[in-house]
Amino acid sequence: MPTLKDTYPLYLCNRAEQPNTDLEVTDKFTGEVAFKTALATPEIIDKAIAGTVRAAEPMARLASYRRKAVLMHCVERFRERFDELAYSLCVEAGKPIGDAEGEVTRLIDTFEIAAEESVRMGGEVMPLDISERAEGYQAIWKRVPVGPCSFISPFNFPLNLAAHKIAPALAVGCPFVLKPASKTPLGALIIGEILAETDLPEGAFSILPASRDGADLFTEDERLKLLSFTGSDTVGWALKAKAGKKKVVLELGGNAAVVIDHDADLDDACERVIKGTFYQSGQSCISVQRIVIHEDVYDDFREKLVAAAKDLKVGDPKKRETFIGPMIDDDEAERLESWIAEAVENGATVLCGGGRDGRLVEATLLENVDRSAKIVNEEAFGPVAVLMKFRDWDDALAEVNRSEFGLQAGIFTRDLFKVLDAWDRVDVGGLMVNEIPSYRVDNMPYGGVKNSGLGREGVRFSMEDMTEIRNMVIRR
Ligand code: NAD
Repeated sequence: MPTLKDTYPLYLCNRAEQPNTDLEVTDKFTGEVAFKTALATPEIIDKAIAGTVRAAEPMARLASYRRKAVLMHCVERFRERFDELAYSLCVEAGKPIGDAEGEVTRLIDTFEIAAEESVRMGGEVMPLDISERAEGYQAIWKRVPVGPCSFISPFNFPLNLAAHKIAPALAVGCPFVLKPASKTPLGALIIGEILAETDLPEGAFSILPASRDGADLFTEDERLKLLSFTGSDTVGWALKAKAGKKKVVLELGGNAAVVIDHDADLDDACERVIKGTFYQSGQSCISVQRIVIHEDVYDDFREKLVAAAKDLKVGDPKKRETFIGPMIDDDEAERLESWIAEAVENGATVLCGGGRDGRLVEATLLENVDRSAKIVNEEAFGPVAVLMKFRDWDDALAEVNRSEFGLQAGIFTRDLFKVLDAWDRVDVGGLMVNEIPSYRVDNMPYGGVKNSGLGREGVRFSMEDMTEIRNMVIRR
């Protein structure tokens, strides 16, 4: 079993520094302090931003084969340090070890995709002679990096969601400052340690856990040209209002629905829905929260789901058999418990689970939930889902759309008309067919509408955001 160090440095202008050990990070299962790291002061963050300004030109001029080499160095080092990276997620995020390994595999994918894309970023030649006045003219445009970027990442995927900002930035040549979540900073700090082994221009990157005071600079400092934030909708939209002239990308929360039509393969759908609901203790932005089931198969599907949910092991994330680990902290587990209680007080039936032991919440399925309940309308972000019945297809789609959020949705059906109909009508960033809304591959466009965000990630799409088009017009 790998071990963690007692303290980890932050990364300021490509270099490890240990100005203090003010941030204590706990093992989310035991609750004990697992390691300490530094909290960046506003002065340190200011130096980091000044570093990105110095690095902007050398980064923009870095040849693409060299950017690719940096990304591939990371890929190799992630492979070598695979077990240590997975273990760090298991400790700091309470992520079951199998899921943690899955995240490290995705981290490697994300950097590998970015390495491939880094040598392909091209432009276009466009004839302009659409009228007499432009005869003999043509436009040629290319993409240039936006310059210094500000990244803020959440607690639930400490490695791969930092990677979705870092890898595209390196691929296009943008320097950056990144603030990882204070509850889970280690994943990003290890990426920093590996990046520090490369010959990136001085100031190209800083990875800085920070308190609230310092964090404001990540949003408000005008030297930074783009803010890419992944986290809750409340924080995300508030930061956008303070971001000034920056480009802003927001990857926020959701309360995803999955529709099970009467002709779905129920065993297959059940296996996937169970995973989508309870994987990561439900602490994923695309976790299944509303299960919308055709009335003809409702009873059968409910029985399958309940049997499967009761089989899931809740407990120590370091044990292979554990499916549901702890929630991130006591407050979150208590909040979820109170939402379940609110639903039950208003008539909901608990089909399974409902109990809590500290941060461990049982796999919980509810039915007959009043439509006004928080557990239906807000983001549960825990191991709970609500079953609902539909008769008409239009009602199923209306239920998918009856949400302030719109990240991804899933439908299980064999009817091609319904697939195409849903694709036209669901108000989400991505529709998964015969798959759960929780499905994601790291090169696909990914993001939400409504409260769920602004813009798309997925390496190539982030690279587009992190560049501006620079046009040139030539007269013959
Ligand atoms: P959060 O909004 O509490 O925090 C996210 C990040 O913002 C953290 O680094 C936090 O320290 C920082 N932060 C908080 N307040 C800040 C402020 N005022 N100024 C600057 N930074 C600030 O979210 P969380 O609890 O870490 O993560 C869970 C949320 O993230 C859920 O809502 C989840 O749906 C969402 N999420 C979205 C995606 C996506 O891709 N759409 C992916 C994962 C998580």
